[in-house]
Amino acid sequence: MKCKDLLIKGKAKSVFATDTKGKLIVEFRDDITAFDGGKKDLLKNKGTCNAEVSAFFFEYLEHNGVKTHFFTMLDSHHMVVRKLEMIPLEVIVRNIAAGSIVRNYPFVEGTPLDPPLIVIDYKDDVRHDPMLNDEIIFALKLATPAELKTIKKVALEINRLLSALLAAQGITLVDFKIEFGRQGKTIYLGDEISMDSMRLWDKKTGESLDKDVYRFEKGDVMAIYNKVAQRITKPGKETVTKD
Ligand code: 5GP
Repeated sequence: MKCKDLLIKGKAKSVFATDTKGKLIVEFRDDITAFDGGKKDLLKNKGTCNAEVSAFFFEYLEHNGVKTHFFTMLDSHHMVVRKLEMIPLEVIVRNIAAGSIVRNYPFVEGTPLDPPLIVIDYKDDVRHDPMLNDEIIFALKLATPAELKTIKKVALEINRLLSALLAAQGITLVDFKIEFGRQGKTIYLGDEISMDSMRLWDKKTGESLDKDVYRFEKGDVMAIYNKVAQRITKPGKETVTKD
């Protein structure tokens, strides 16, 4: 497969056309950003690390009946995906109150949310991704009622599957953001699922294992990303560090 024109350059990924109908290539770059691009850096090997975790999750979800855009990896940081018409919604599932829900509403950080909360934001950096409700989604014709029903059902199923997988590695899935796209009438999970788009807490220590380490300068981002990637994709083979 040949990589052709650059179609989209996002904050951490680039999307390229290919010579194969219906397929695109996503490049996971080493860029990391936070606060709508207000903080940015280059971290060596971050693209590969996030691509590896994303591919692992996509394969696991596909295996468990979730339709995703993932086909295969071309190399360590180039992913072949199904071409979708992306829906500009950031679908966030929250199991524990943290982040913006605590800043914007009277939730106490660390409070379990049972049943999990689904929050949907409009993907628009200029408007700072404002929160939507179903009526606004329909008025803006971002998704049909049937599509939104599917998106919410699949988001909760993804939450169930990822929470179980991560719990087995001693990691709590606090919350995560996913994006969907359509091909014809079918809804697929798109974008990525990585440490950039999830909030993960170590079950024993409560330590952050995700982009909060970068956002709030809690430690060596790549050391933590590499360690958590290893823990997720190669359980039982983590490097043992001596104290
Ligand atoms: P919050 O709304 O608390 O900032 O984020 C909730 C969850 O969604 C977190 O896991 C966060 O990483 C993810 N998230 C929210 N907005 C974005 C975004 O624009 N990009 C990415 N990669 N993740 C996001």
